[in-house]
Amino acid sequence: MSDERQRATGAGGGRREVTDAAQAREALRGVLEQARSAVFFGGAGVSTESGIPDFRSAHGVYRTSSGVGYPPETIVSHSFFQAHPQEFWRFYRSKMVFPDARPNACHRKLAELERAGHLAGVVTQNIDGLHQAAGSRAVVELHGSVHRNHCQGCGRGFDLAQTLAAADASADGIPRCPACGGAVKPDVVLYEEPLDEATMLRAARLIDAADVLVVAGTSLAVWPAAGFIEYFHGGTLVVANLSPTSAEAQADLVVRVPVGEAFDW
Ligand SMILES: [Zn+2]
Repeated sequence: MSDERQRATGAGGGRREVTDAAQAREALRGVLEQARSAVFFGGAGVSTESGIPDFRSAHGVYRTSSGVGYPPETIVSHSFFQAHPQEFWRFYRSKMVFPDARPNACHRKLAELERAGHLAGVVTQNIDGLHQAAGSRAVVELHGSVHRNHCQGCGRGFDLAQTLAAADASADGIPRCPACGGAVKPDVVLYEEPLDEATMLRAARLIDAADVLVVAGTSLAVWPAAGFIEYFHGGTLVVANLSPTSAEAQADLVVRVPVGEAFDW
């Protein structure tokens, strides 16, 4: 398949880089409205315009109530969650959960492209559920979702509103199961935890069958994101990210425009 790659962008078949929003919209529209099984692989940059910052931008060190500072990556780890659930929930609620966030133009455009039969699915590193809120149906959430939570005691599931209400009702801020009193854990993949195998397989299959792959709002620095690109054998690879990424060498189209502006047509 790779030798049949149709260079849908750039007159000479080489890589085209676009820094102007109007040109980016035109180029993306040209590629995606021709696609039959496009896949969108997105990261934190996709939700920036919905007011959700990358939690890793939480100013290096986060100070807990005891005055001890931890890097965000430490707080969002399995061992920290087990040892300091109260501090975990305090950080998690303030930096990773945004119940009032709404989908932006990019989320809405992807849902529209799926309905029109151009987009086969979205693979996301985000945990905010905004693709589903915009109407996307085929969404693979590599890192889980804030909208799913479960009791570590009995396994009962809770949505985000139930979980936050339980945390508010709890003296130490740790949400507890009303049935058994067990501590509730979000279905979010923490550092030190493996990604779900069935979820990874679903992502790999989507990308393997894609005719267009758009990698957007992610530096691809975090494993296994970079590895997924290797499954792509389709015609057009698009990279939409403000800073350079490792996938660009293979890209047909590089878009240096905020994602919410580039997908707004
Ligand atoms: Zn329970």
